[in-house]
Amino acid sequence: MENCLFCKITKKELPAETIYEDKNILVFKDIHPKAPVHFLVVPKKHIESINYLEPIDKELMGELLLVAKKIAQDKKLKGYKLVINTGREGGQLIDHLHIHLLGGKPIQMP
Ligand code: 5GP
Ligand code: ZN
Repeated sequence: MENCLFCKITKKELPAETIYEDKNILVFKDIHPKAPVHFLVVPKKHIESINYLEPIDKELMGELLLVAKKIAQDKKLKGYKLVINTGREGGQLIDHLHIHLLGGKPIQMP
């Protein structure tokens, strides 16, 4: 998707501090961390938000959660919070589906 920041990052057209990569997923550090650990778990496929998910994306969504779990365990987080903002009122600023992985301190609900 042209002019999508996270598409550009997943295609390496823009830099990011990569934590993990596989065929379908890139995980990188959030540029404005809101916790000691703040990663973004991002599918390489452009999906605008949860509102645009299709049944074909079921397996990919499972992969995103498994990758989030693996990274949290690799980083030995005692606990963590996974957040998917959806729509402007839901706090979504980048219109490419992503999971925030937050940890390294007690994370409150907003
Ligand atoms: P949202 O509000 O859409 O759920 O989250 C977008 C996140 O992307 C924000 O936490 C913001 O700090 C992060 N972000 C915005 N621009 C960039 C960027 O250019 N690079 C990285 N690594 N993170 C970004
Ligand atoms: Zn995109």
